[in-house]
Amino acid sequence: MRSSWTGRILLALAGSRRLEAFVRRHGKRLGVDRFVAGADLEAALAVVRELEARGFGTTVDRVGEGAREEAAADDAAAAYLELLDGIGRVGSRAHVSVKLTALGLDLDREACRGRVEAIAGRAKAAGSLVRVDMEDSAHLEATLELLGEVRRTHPEVGVVVQAYLRRSREDLLGLIAQGVRIRLVKGAYREPPDIAYQRRDAVDRAYLDLARLALAAGAQVAFATHDTALIAAIQREAAAMGRQREQVEFQMLYGVRPALQREVRDAGYPLRVYVPYGRDFYPYFMRRVAERPANLAFALRQLRDRAR
Ligand SMILES: Cc1cc2nc3c(=O)[nH]c(=O)nc-3n(C[C@H](O)[C@H](O)[C@H](O)COP(=O)(O)OP(=O)(O)OC[C@H]3O[C@@H](n4cnc5c(N)ncnc54)[C@H](O)[C@@H]3O)c2cc1C
Repeated sequence: MRSSWTGRILLALAGSRRLEAFVRRHGKRLGVDRFVAGADLEAALAVVRELEARGFGTTVDRVGEGAREEAAADDAAAAYLELLDGIGRVGSRAHVSVKLTALGLDLDREACRGRVEAIAGRAKAAGSLVRVDMEDSAHLEATLELLGEVRRTHPEVGVVVQAYLRRSREDLLGLIAQGVRIRLVKGAYREPPDIAYQRRDAVDRAYLDLARLALAAGAQVAFATHDTALIAAIQREAAAMGRQREQVEFQMLYGVRPALQREVRDAGYPLRVYVPYGRDFYPYFMRRVAERPANLAFALRQLRDRAR
């Protein structure tokens, strides 16, 4: 969902190898630290503990996507197992999010499923939960299919629904019927108009429709957005349906609208912060910049000031 031309260009640049090399080299100066908790596990765990001490829930994401070889997918899976051990070790209640392409979805599907099952098993042992992020629409069917397979042995594994996709109402109803834990988001990728709403107001309307539907069905749903109008509307709907505040979870990204995060928490709603860490931050960072091109101006100012 991108209504501004700068946003669209920035999302297109998320695939640029040359820009990736530049951003990787100058990551710190470009302000990557605002959105990414650190390069390694210990940095992520430190942020998680600090957030939990302040009354926030957390979801940890080891950044990375699009594994091109099995070894890279194995590395990603091993990092998640280590992360879950770390979560258990420090007594955290963090959840984890995985991207299936990082775990080899485009390679050997069976091997990918095995990795997700191993992660889900380790999560259970650590008292954590796994949610599968939703990537671009080219991976949607395969993601839902694999989720269905994994849920035969790990029914607690959840998934993300993107409001910008025209098909999401049907997907959401199907997932609710199966009792799947859902995170509702607007959607962060560049998708064509035949499958995705392009206008911001259409996406916002779709989001609220899906939110109402999920609330009315009593689904296990978390509302991931920084949109104050949507948050207020969902809070009103939930109250009208007699939901207690502690039953209505909101989720936001590390570094995005921290004052709003505190405000929602202070109002008595569970607020879960999505904490990304790792070295392969480029596509994640570019999606955050595309969501709010003012972030790019910030990044460029940082570079200019340091160059002086
Ligand atoms: C916990 C979580 C998990 C997510 N998982 C997925 C996923 O699996 N798949 C997927 O496609 N997308 C995912 N997203 C991203 C989501 O799809 C949106 O792209 C993102 O949340 C921005 O949309 P918004 O709902 O905040 O609304 P917007 O209308 O984009 O933003 C509302 C307001 O929030 C502020 N804001 C939003 N983004 C930023 C930013 N990057 N920097 C500074 N301010 C900002 C701006 O002030 C803006 O006016 C996730 C988001 C969250 C919060």
